[in-house]
Formats: sequence, C-alpha cells, structure tokens
Amino acid sequence: MLDAKAIVTIDGPSGAGKSTISRGLAAKLHFTYLDTGAMYRAVGLALERQGIDLADTASLKRCLDEIELTLAPNGDDDVRVLLNGEDVSQAIRTPEMGMVASRVSADPLVREKLTALQRQLGEKGGIVAEGRDMGTVVFPKAASKFFLNASAEERARRRCKQLAEKGQIVDFQEILDQISKRDYDDSRRQLAPLKPADDAIIVDSSSMGPEAVIEFMLASIAKSAR
Ligand code: C5P
Repeated sequence: MLDAKAIVTIDGPSGAGKSTISRGLAAKLHFTYLDTGAMYRAVGLALERQGIDLADTASLKRCLDEIELTLAPNGDDDVRVLLNGEDVSQAIRTPEMGMVASRVSADPLVREKLTALQRQLGEKGGIVAEGRDMGTVVFPKAASKFFLNASAEERARRRCKQLAEKGQIVDFQEILDQISKRDYDDSRRQLAPLKPADDAIIVDSSSMGPEAVIEFMLASIAKSAR
C-alpha cells in the first residue's frame, strides 16, 4: 500500500466535493487532511478586516508577517482554523469569503507565504492536500494526484445544500454565478492557476457519490503503489 510518508493531492474547482472527498480519503489512509482553501480564506479575512489594499505592498507584507495560521484537529475528521489564535472556522465559510479568498490568492506575496507554510505542513508527508495548485506547484512530486471536477450546475447545487445544512439560505443562481466567476479567475490567473497536473488522474464526480469517488481513488492509489 501507500508509503506512510506519501502525499496525495486533490485539486479542482469550487464545489467539486474536494473537502468531503479529501477528508474521507485521509481518514481511510490514516493521513492528515490539509485544507489549503481554508488558509487562503483566513488570510483574506485578515486582510479584509485590516482594510489592506493589495497594491500597498508595504502594509500587505507587514500584515502577512503578523499572521499566524494554525490548522487544529477538531474531532476525527474536522479541522479548526485559527487566525492569530482566534477560531475563524465559521467566519471563513461564507460565499463572500470564497470570493475574497479568490481575489487575494492571485497576489504573489500571499501565495509565497501560504505555499511555504503548506510545504512546511506537508514536510513529514502522510497528508491529503486539497486546493487548486497542490499537484502542480506546492507538491509536484506527490505520490498520487487527482483533479476532481463536476458540472458547474452540480457543483452549485452541492454548495447550496452544504450552506443550507449550516443554516445559510442562498440563491442557486447567485451561487452558480459566484463559483463560475471564481473558477474563471482561478484558472486564468498568472500564478499557480487552477489546472490539472500533467500526471493527475481526472475524476468527474457529477454522477458519483462521495463514497464511490473515495473507493475509486483508493483503488488508483493501490494500483500505482504496486
Ligand atoms: O477551496 P476553497 O473554496 O476554500 O478556496 C477558496 C479560494 O482560495 C479559491 O477560489 C482559490 O482562489 C484560492 N485557493 C488557491 N489555491 C489553493 C486553495 C485555494 O488559490 N491551493
């Protein structure tokens, strides 16, 4: 089976089910789950709260230097996100913070800080890392790479359901427009754009449940480790 120090990457557009799948896969492999989207969201929140303009590089650098991000395990398959010690796990999980994260994630200083932190967190291996550039930039030598996709409508539907479960009632069309814009911007940015690594296995989960996707990934991992 897979080396205990291996790294598995799962990239893909918003709402493709990456979090559920990555969490589930990490649990099956007894690996740690690394949610890099949460890191961009937390940085977006910090910059927004302090009213930092990305063009003001001196203030941006100072703010980034002061940010301390911690991903703390919360139960078996959940993670709390601490921003300078404050639990921001709920505050970052809104559609608006998704848009803010997408905007700040195109900035070179923000990417530099988070890429370094992600590599540090992945140093010992044994992780399932989800994001947009895990297989292409952050962990190019990962043992197994997946690119999880689904149709935009299916992704918007899942996102609405997920938010409704958390008590956030949202408009389907608005969510569809937001994720479409986010994916467009994430795919076309200059730095670490959203795209599959050349050696990634592409999985379309439009008509697959999470269990089936996890089983498929486990089988691919087992095959490649043989
Ligand atoms: O995955 P999630 O929706 O939480 O990500 C929020 C935003 O953070 C994405 O739309 C993307 O712009 C950015 N992101 C990124 N690189 C990653 C993870 C997330 O640019 N590895």
